[in-house]
Amino acid sequence: MFKFPEAVLRIIRQLNDAGFEAYAVGGCVRDALLDKQPNDWDLTTSALPDEIKRVFKKERVIETGIQHGTVTVLINGEGYEITTYRVDGEYTDHRRPDSVHFVSNLKDDLMRRDFTVNAMAAHPNEGVIDLFGGKDDLKNGVIRAVGNPEMRFTEDALRILRAVRFASTYDFTIDEETALAANRLAPTLENVSEERIFVELKKLLCGKGAERILLDYPEIIFTVLPELKPMYKLPQINPHHVYDVWTHTVKTVAAAPSEPVYRLTMLLHDAGKPEKKTTDEKGVDHFIGHPVVSAAIAEKTLLRLKSDRATIQTVTKLVLEHDLRVPEKRINIRRQISRIGKDLFPMLTKVIRADFYGQNPEMLTEKLRYVDSLKREYECAIEENACLTLRDLLFTGRDLLQMGAKGKTVGIVLEKLLDDVIREKVQNETEALKKRAVIHLKNLTENP
Ligand code: ATP
Ligand code: MG
Repeated sequence: MFKFPEAVLRIIRQLNDAGFEAYAVGGCVRDALLDKQPNDWDLTTSALPDEIKRVFKKERVIETGIQHGTVTVLINGEGYEITTYRVDGEYTDHRRPDSVHFVSNLKDDLMRRDFTVNAMAAHPNEGVIDLFGGKDDLKNGVIRAVGNPEMRFTEDALRILRAVRFASTYDFTIDEETALAANRLAPTLENVSEERIFVELKKLLCGKGAERILLDYPEIIFTVLPELKPMYKLPQINPHHVYDVWTHTVKTVAAAPSEPVYRLTMLLHDAGKPEKKTTDEKGVDHFIGHPVVSAAIAEKTLLRLKSDRATIQTVTKLVLEHDLRVPEKRINIRRQISRIGKDLFPMLTKVIRADFYGQNPEMLTEKLRYVDSLKREYECAIEENACLTLRDLLFTGRDLLQMGAKGKTVGIVLEKLLDDVIREKVQNETEALKKRAVIHLKNLTENP
């Protein structure tokens, strides 16, 4: 048996002392059995919500979902969700139960849960309560619906996406019958809200098994991401590539750091290729201008999925720049760092690297050498505290206004001065920049 946190032991003891059953349940039991730190510890109990509140009247209690039987108890600043044993009522919209019913036994509560590995409860004295073979499935790495998979997916289509998400996160396989039902009912995912799809999708993408799952479950993936379907099996016959566009995409997802921004960027980076594909007379495929189209598709897709603004902005920009090729000279690279931004550039080098891992392996060494040189130059510029933005420039708009510059010329001249510094035409010193500014202002008045 695994160790329970002090607070969980206390909650269970207090409920038991008051005459109620209480267990840790669901994801925390699964993760603890896998020796992983659970995200949170959820509890299930025979006590009704009012009874839970009475037992914890000395604690801070928040009625997070009282109509669903959930009460959150705060212990040392940490929230613990305690839910009354319940079963879900009718599902008429494949989305959420029309009602919930409280029940008196643990078995019924465990039966309503989605997968065997998520349907275990645990008690410090009784050990793990495993009624559906969850422990074995955990040991063998299998995601299996509790009960009849068709029925369970028909009740709630989100479970279809949760199945592939858990299989990806834990690098598990999906039991055959469960997988069959998931594929067959994939179209019903249309009834699930975009927000919930996005939550599951991000977890799926960041999982250890993402590559395998994205390749093995196209029916499910393209139901939630119809924008990406044209990439599926689309050939790209050219020296850089050995995989079709979707297989390449999936490999780059797996090669990127396991964080949503990177994984989403790779997922979307070539989405514009189908629209931009041309084949020349030698039979070689080209995708000229695809990053612009990919960026537009990325933005549209993330907006549809109700992504937060910051993620949309970062992903769209990284997608737009993913094909950056720059001469490996200090000045050229620094101009690109300045244009793309100090924060985004190091992220872009990770995107470029992941992209190379999905291309022709024969060229990989040479391409990695290129991206390493970008990274080294970036680190060198940061280390030197190099002037890369207008904020770093030791000359300001106010200095220019004092010299008599007006309106738009102020911005134009500042950009020129920054570029002069990056190109090492002038030192980043106020006096030197002032002399240079005089020349630019003169040029601008002569040739506006
Ligand atoms: P995570 O590690 O992502 O938190 P989790 O398994 O804890 O995974 P939650 O969404 O927190 O997932 O749900 C907690 C528990 O509630 C699950 O372990 C499962 O028993 C049950 N559950 C959650 N969503 C569903 C669902 N759609 N259908 C049936 N049971 C569900
Ligand atoms: Mg959880």
